[in-house]
Amino acid sequence: MRVATVCALAISMALAASAASAQNDPAKALAVAAATAAPVATQATCPGNPNPLGVARVVEIDTTGGPGFGFEHFKAYDFLREGEVVLTFDDGPWPGNTPAVLKALAAQCTKALFFPIGKHAMWHPEILKQVAAAGHTIGSHTWSHVDLSKLTSDQAKEEIEKGVSAVRVALGQPEAPFFRFPALRHSPELLAYLGTRNIGIFSTDVDSFDFKIHEPEKVIASVMSKLKKNGKGIVLMHDFQHPTSLALPELLVQLKANGYKIVQVKAKGPVETLAEYDEPLQKELGGETANSRPILSVVRTISE
Ligand SMILES: [Zn+2]
Repeated sequence: MRVATVCALAISMALAASAASAQNDPAKALAVAAATAAPVATQATCPGNPNPLGVARVVEIDTTGGPGFGFEHFKAYDFLREGEVVLTFDDGPWPGNTPAVLKALAAQCTKALFFPIGKHAMWHPEILKQVAAAGHTIGSHTWSHVDLSKLTSDQAKEEIEKGVSAVRVALGQPEAPFFRFPALRHSPELLAYLGTRNIGIFSTDVDSFDFKIHEPEKVIASVMSKLKKNGKGIVLMHDFQHPTSLALPELLVQLKANGYKIVQVKAKGPVETLAEYDEPLQKELGGETANSRPILSVVRTISE
């Protein structure tokens, strides 16, 4: 686990360094863009897995005006083709379970969309950074996962904004402008608010209800049977849940065996956080020094 953390950070730092040097060199900038746009996983590019699930298609979402996705609540944008699946994981980052989910996704060279809880992101920023370093898309899922429909509108907006800022502060960079309501419970007023914030909303097509299932085999059966019925869809699971983390390796094998294709969802641009929420969280995470340098540039092992 310790080695994996260091590797993930090293990769993230290397990518940051190459992006920085590319800014001053148009040729390098082109190369970086091409590398980003290249197919994510083919048989030749997934080490140790000759027949990976991979990523069949990458879509970019323009969240201007706060569009909604997931037919359980929003039917305007039917962007998935038959057999296509978007994997989504809520409520992390969490020790043990989130790294296990990342390991299972990496073994299949596939990508997912994560909706972390703000508090969890502040408690475990290094795990959230591993999610980003692995190339997954990250949105947000409120500060403390309360049912927003039971709050006043000011309280609900604070829950949303503090969650958005917590993920940004924990990551050290802004996440995607993607949001999921706790328990999928929204209100017309909050949808309108997210519209003004240009934040897209994700409901679901296939709700695994994995948080109520204690056996990994039943999580797999739940997802596979609902997908078969639906034919495609945005699948809601939880990297916070231990049974899900155990189920994922076999679930991904079954998705591949049944011909499903994974779509990775990316955002056209990052979320715009509000400074009034960023600043107190930044102080909480970094002490009073506002020091956001990567840990390996501050402390490194020189002898062991
Ligand atoms: Zn949740």
